[in-house]
Amino acid sequence: MTETTTSSGGRPNLPMQGVPQPSRDEVLNLPRVHISSHPVMAHKMTALRNKNTQPPEFYRHVKEIGALLAYEATATLAIESSPIETPMGPMIGERLAGGIGVTPILRAGLGLAEGFREVIPDAQIWHLGLRRDEQTLEAMEYYNQLPHRVDLQVCYAVDPMLATGGSAIDAINVLKRRAIPRLCYVGIIAAPYGLLKLSQTHPDIDIYIAALDESLNDVGYILPGLGDAGDRQFGTF
Ligand code: URA
Repeated sequence: MTETTTSSGGRPNLPMQGVPQPSRDEVLNLPRVHISSHPVMAHKMTALRNKNTQPPEFYRHVKEIGALLAYEATATLAIESSPIETPMGPMIGERLAGGIGVTPILRAGLGLAEGFREVIPDAQIWHLGLRRDEQTLEAMEYYNQLPHRVDLQVCYAVDPMLATGGSAIDAINVLKRRAIPRLCYVGIIAAPYGLLKLSQTHPDIDIYIAALDESLNDVGYILPGLGDAGDRQFGTF
């Protein structure tokens, strides 16, 4: 878990304390929000959330959930004709029309990006480092490996926890400067607060998540959530 920082006066900073939050019901039917209803996803989510799940297993579940989310999030991609020869003769096949980009928000997004690569091995991976200022909860960019030449039909910003929405909103802002035709956000768990913020700030993107939780606690962690997705993937407790 993230440490609760203290202000100069020594009082704990609780950035979400007293901040009004929408309920789950209020955000359930937002446009362009896709919440997985797949039973295999629900099964894996329980293993992921369990506090007894150790980092190697946790990382494996993140990857598998990433692959399932990739499968759902790519269901409407554009395809084009691709003439081929099978051993039996010619046929008109199909292939994805244009490249696919995946932007893991460092570091927690890395496992999800690996899951995407299992489904789309030739996806370009554009690393983006955003860190939350623990006092203000503002997202700060500290690493950017986005290429100069862009030839993608879609780019997926991936980050497991959509909490206050700050990093997700910022990542989409960064990607919007690259003139990519279509942008999506993919996460594992969203809090109603962050989901509403992201959806209102970027109404032109699709949002794919595995689960919608209840709320944020005073320091901005999702309840019931799964704790710190970065620490649990990489064993840095
Ligand atoms: N980031 C996490 O890893 N977990 C949360 O609950 C919120 C943000």
